[in-house]
Amino acid sequence: MEKNSLERRNFLKLSFTAAIGGIAGRLMGNNWNSEATLKDHFIREIGRFPRRKLGYSQREVSIMIGAGDMSTPLVEAGAELGMNYWHKANRWMRGGAPDIIKKNREAHYCQVTVDRVSGDHYTGHFDEQEHYRYVKEAVKRSGLGYFDDMQLHYGYHNAEEVKKERGFIRAFERLKREGLVRHLCLSQHSYRGSSRVENGESDARVLKAVMEDGLYEHAQFMYSYPGDPEMDEFIEMARKKNFGTIAMKTARGIGRMSRDEEFMDKLPDGVSPYHAMARWLTTETLLDAAVIRVRNMEEFTDTYSGAGKKLRDKDWQALRKMTREANRTACRMCGKCQIQCPRQIPISDILRFERYAMDDNDWNKARKLYAGLPTKGNSCIGCESCMQVCPQNMRIPDKIARAHAMLG
Ligand code: SF4
Ligand code: SF4
Repeated sequence: MEKNSLERRNFLKLSFTAAIGGIAGRLMGNNWNSEATLKDHFIREIGRFPRRKLGYSQREVSIMIGAGDMSTPLVEAGAELGMNYWHKANRWMRGGAPDIIKKNREAHYCQVTVDRVSGDHYTGHFDEQEHYRYVKEAVKRSGLGYFDDMQLHYGYHNAEEVKKERGFIRAFERLKREGLVRHLCLSQHSYRGSSRVENGESDARVLKAVMEDGLYEHAQFMYSYPGDPEMDEFIEMARKKNFGTIAMKTARGIGRMSRDEEFMDKLPDGVSPYHAMARWLTTETLLDAAVIRVRNMEEFTDTYSGAGKKLRDKDWQALRKMTREANRTACRMCGKCQIQCPRQIPISDILRFERYAMDDNDWNKARKLYAGLPTKGNSCIGCESCMQVCPQNMRIPDKIARAHAMLG
């Protein structure tokens, strides 16, 4: 065995930077003393990320994309393995972009996400000057020199808004003329049935309108195993029209599954939920790329070693079990239930926040977002109208009550 005496688990917990810097090498003896040997090990264990062409620009983008909220060692590890697209790169406004990106700036695609102003994604509005000012500030403070992609965060409320609200696009055009941005993209949520916006529509409906409008190059949207017929139709159409597609919020229910020993014991040996999902997302769908959140080197290796690799029989077995479990426990946020609710409870928002807590272990974020809701889970009267339309047949009133008890 090449791993010598240090156990794999502990080895993987070491940061890539530390490993490359020689600490792990010293711990593991002569075979590991060179930086090249360690890099080779990671490349063998995980593999370089395959790339696909994204959108009309046909840029080659790694099938697993990274994010500005990853720790610097994980960004470095990702870049070493060919990760070259960075979502939310404006997070690097705080301390500057990692050196590995800045040193080889043209080899990376960095995205700035831009929010509506004077409110959140429900109540805020578009403001050309504010969007323009924010991106200029982000370029300066991140030290990136420019952003490859300017992303409208949370997207449009409905197809009508795509046509009427052009402030974001005008800001993009001004910034593009100044060489500060290159491509336009958006992340789209579903506003179907939302009581907080007028005429909210599904993500698939809005994305089709965006694609027809022709100005945006690609989109990020919520998508996870085992797929979704509405989104699958959109993804197929997008592929034919050279409109790029990137899945986000992909790990539906996996955080809680991974901590559930009883559930994990039922999976075939040698399969983990993140790994099986990474294989599925990158080989069994028509997506161009996907974001899967990883927090440490162990998760990095476990998850990303599945990228671009075909599913084995045991991965399929695991995915079937994961789907049954996720359908019972974790909402896919399609929004179909919301229109049914006589109390106008933002069900999919509540269950999205529950996912932040239960899957990402991000309780502060979940509680803060829950506190900002105008109507909370304790308004539920248990009528069960929502359950009639849920594609997962989820026990929604019970889920909402539990979420309120946890987050309220
Ligand atoms: S059961 Fe509760 S959440 Fe569902 S529709 Fe009725 S009031 Fe709304
Ligand atoms: S509870 Fe069911 S219907 Fe409502 S958003 Fe989630 S998956 Fe869709």
